[in-house]
Amino acid sequence: MVGRLVLVLGDQLSQGLSALQAADRSRDIVVMAEVMDEGTYVPHHPKKIALILSAMRHFADELRENGWQVAYTRLDDPEASKSVVGELMRRGQERGTTEVIATQPGEWRLIEALDNAPLTVTRLPDDRFICSLDEFDRWAEGRKELRMEYFYREMRRKTGLMMEGDKPAGGKWNYDHDNRKPAKSDMLRARPMRFTPDAVTEEVLDLVAARFGGNFGELRPFWFGVTSGQAKRAFDHFAKSLLPGFGDYQDAMLQDDRFVHHSVISVYLNIGLLDPVDMCTRVVEEWQAGHVPINAAEGYIRQVIGWREYMRGIYFREGPDYTARNTLDHARDLPGLYWGAETRMNCVAQTVDQTKEEAYAHHIQRLMVTGNFALLAGIDPAQVHEWYLAVYADAFEWVEAPNVIGMSQFADGGIIASKPYISSGNYIAKMSDYCGNCAYSVKQKTGEGACPFNLLYWDFLIRHRDRFGRNPRMGPIYRTWDRMDEVRRTALLEGAAQVLADLDAGKVI
Ligand SMILES: Cc1cc2nc3c(=O)[nH]c(=O)nc-3n(C[C@H](O)[C@H](O)[C@H](O)COP(=O)(O)OP(=O)(O)OC[C@H]3O[C@@H](n4cnc5c(N)ncnc54)[C@H](O)[C@@H]3O)c2cc1C
Ligand code: SF4
Repeated sequence: MVGRLVLVLGDQLSQGLSALQAADRSRDIVVMAEVMDEGTYVPHHPKKIALILSAMRHFADELRENGWQVAYTRLDDPEASKSVVGELMRRGQERGTTEVIATQPGEWRLIEALDNAPLTVTRLPDDRFICSLDEFDRWAEGRKELRMEYFYREMRRKTGLMMEGDKPAGGKWNYDHDNRKPAKSDMLRARPMRFTPDAVTEEVLDLVAARFGGNFGELRPFWFGVTSGQAKRAFDHFAKSLLPGFGDYQDAMLQDDRFVHHSVISVYLNIGLLDPVDMCTRVVEEWQAGHVPINAAEGYIRQVIGWREYMRGIYFREGPDYTARNTLDHARDLPGLYWGAETRMNCVAQTVDQTKEEAYAHHIQRLMVTGNFALLAGIDPAQVHEWYLAVYADAFEWVEAPNVIGMSQFADGGIIASKPYISSGNYIAKMSDYCGNCAYSVKQKTGEGACPFNLLYWDFLIRHRDRFGRNPRMGPIYRTWDRMDEVRRTALLEGAAQVLADLDAGKVI
């Protein structure tokens, strides 16, 4: 009997993948393909491309060791076609089959390509998540608001993680209130585990340098792990050395410490090298052993079983048009400073520099620096979305788009965020050490040298007063504006208009 094709995509590198479970290794053949379309639909950071290609090559070797036949296409294979579907067709013709087993891809773009292919595709659910898409829909059905906190509680009950019977351990569901501390530079703080590239990775690095060297982002030094074994070691190192401070310093940003207490694990988790339940079980064990405070353990599992699962549920529930939403009608082009053009705003320069070097920035940098600036400046959310999808090594549309379109840019009209995540420079000054090294003064609200975030913050609020003026959580901010004297209000709006005009004129701001 002719075997079927088993598709394994670059973010599906899990031995327990549903497509592999459903296949028969004695006759079916695994198809893995490095294809140009996947590398170029946005200008991905070279580190991201190298991570995925090297991890794919290592995974294919593991599959072969486990007895699978693997038809692997390298990017530089002369007969390679440009797309995933093209490669499936080619392999199918070679073997005389049109039957494909696939695990559901994490992007509508690829789901549609598979659906439209002249192949018989059995599409299986991606069960590497705690909440299935049907289960998410059942939870969401009939609710007026889809608040993450309530979804998260369901996931706690479902997994039993940090539960005492039907009650949350320690009596509270959420210890976020304790997690707002600024951090100090600390030479002794551990850093994420780094790995030296092996021969497979070196070969990939040369290929990526030759094909994608012109993309935004530094390829070397490349230190990400590329196997599940390395990813587990990296997580183990985090759990032992950095997790205890994760809660307290979750929102902190430091110029000389790009990772603070973050795990830098999404790069592995999102391509399938780690399992979310295993990770959270490990976190709970550290807490039960008394090595980790409750606010750190709860804070960490909330990100993984709460936010991550919730974002995926929203992406698939909202459908393929989600990335095109633009509720606030923002239309400004993404300025060059996102691609490394000079800026005098130190917080933005530091975050973009770090992104360029590491293909990584932590949550608060993404949300309250680059995301905040784009929202305040009224930048087209589709362009913001493409930027985030391109520059972060962990960016796959199912998780990136709800974070950008929903959480960060409020472009979905408030499905994810009950109010926009905006702040003046005060928040950045409180949570980071960026402002001390900035050409602008965060204390200065108007006039020459005033921090642009201070000006744009009020401009945004006034531009969108019709929409947000009646939001009960924003009422006090508008009342502060109404109490301000006229001279100050005019200076704020004129200052903001000047910043935006300079931005549009391509001047350095
Ligand atoms: C504008 C914006 C864009 C983002 N784009 C992405 C993206 O493309 N891919 C991505 O995985 N995350 C994205 N996030 C969420 C979050 O910033 C990253 O998951 C996190 O920074 C990854 O670094 P870490 O592993 O060190 O995370 P940690 O801070 O150590 O958190 C642990 C884990 O929790 C999960 N997590 C935390 N917050 C979120 C969240 N909001 N949504 C989903 N998972 C979360 C991640 O898997 C992460 O690895 C984005 C956030 C914002 C505000
Ligand atoms: S002063 Fe303003 S622009 Fe400068 S680092 Fe602080 S928040 Fe950023």
